[in-house]
Amino acid sequence: MSARKPVPFLDLVTSHEELKAELCAVFERALKTAGFIGGPMVDEFEREFASFCDSEHCVGVGSGTDALRFALIAAGVDAGDSVLTVPNTFIATTEAISQAGARPAFVDIDKRTYNMDPKKLHQYLEMECAVDDSGHAIDMSTGRRVTAVVPVHLYGQMCDMDPILELAEHYNLVVVEDACQAHGAEYFSRKQNRWRKAGSIGKVAAFSFYPGKNLGACGEAGAVTTSDPELAQKIRMLRDHGQSKKYYHDMEGYNGRLDAIQAGILQVKLRHLAEWNEQRRKCANRYDALFASTTDEVRAPFEPKWARPAYHLYVLRVENRASVQRHLTELGVGTGIHYPVPLHLQGAYSGLGYKAGAFPIAEEIAGEILSLPIFPGLTHNQQRLVVASLLTSIESNCSALAVSQST
Ligand SMILES: *Cc1c(COP(=O)(O)O)cnc(C)c1O
Repeated sequence: MSARKPVPFLDLVTSHEELKAELCAVFERALKTAGFIGGPMVDEFEREFASFCDSEHCVGVGSGTDALRFALIAAGVDAGDSVLTVPNTFIATTEAISQAGARPAFVDIDKRTYNMDPKKLHQYLEMECAVDDSGHAIDMSTGRRVTAVVPVHLYGQMCDMDPILELAEHYNLVVVEDACQAHGAEYFSRKQNRWRKAGSIGKVAAFSFYPGKNLGACGEAGAVTTSDPELAQKIRMLRDHGQSKKYYHDMEGYNGRLDAIQAGILQVKLRHLAEWNEQRRKCANRYDALFASTTDEVRAPFEPKWARPAYHLYVLRVENRASVQRHLTELGVGTGIHYPVPLHLQGAYSGLGYKAGAFPIAEEIAGEILSLPIFPGLTHNQQRLVVASLLTSIESNCSALAVSQST
């Protein structure tokens, strides 16, 4: 067994080696002009990424967290507001809400997509909120105005946006998509009878270019997309100390700019993104096929008819995850858990007053989810090895249990 080559959870080296000459040329281009912040590479990348997302504007920023924070502030979220999202996401989603001065509030996820359940959103707004004179929902337990909702397209899977948009319109909520894991994912709107790209559906959207994302920089980077020119302009000011022009500050902002070298690198890699996403989808389909006969042991991801996921992650559910994962590590197969503790049960949010049991679906899956290796370049053989190792791990786990129960 140990003679087999390990399968890493993620291989970031090969794809960068293949693009090495082009990536190094970006650095040389920046050195020649010493244009390290802003400049033509940032402008060009912004135009190209906006176009990739079917959005009018893109504003490059320092990280996905910056993108979320600026999007929320620019969209008018005020200090003291309440902003809705899900407990099954990376903490940056809720950090941005808090840093915009608002308070995160959660609704549970759908048991098949693991993303925001529009029915739970509806229930929350209907049962737990009152509507004030301005048409805003007021959370009856906190007295706070609910002004925005952040659906997270987690794992590169799409949230069911039609009902979310409809509820948002009815309750006056700004929709901020967290598309940090969903570059290039698509959603079929039954209402509009057309496919729509992640990042073009809500009022405004946030992307992360953290190295491991489907489109990753060689460092920290992020972007906001929107088709609202005023919002785009506000975000341009927020990322640059609130300047409307140099040293004229209309408001306080942040140092949250995208640097030129990262923008240049992202330009090079963006040309491959559609192809890389296609490879990820192929990998996902191959896993699906390999798991087709093992539905009792593992639950493969659910792909709704209305979604073309970007498969940032391929997330299964297994019982006895801890020992299965340990066994896989011993067999040389890298895995991850996204995420082990739902946000409402994290120490950072003990002050929000949520108890265990508040969001049963998020809590249930948190104990069973396991992310398998998926990246462009993952071979069919590697995938077979991953699946065989997983099934071995599950079996040996079952026989170990049987032994411990019989003694
Ligand atoms: C990566 C990520 C972020 C944060 O992006 P950074 O670039 O790391 O700041 C936010 N939300 C989700 C869902 C993410 O996966």
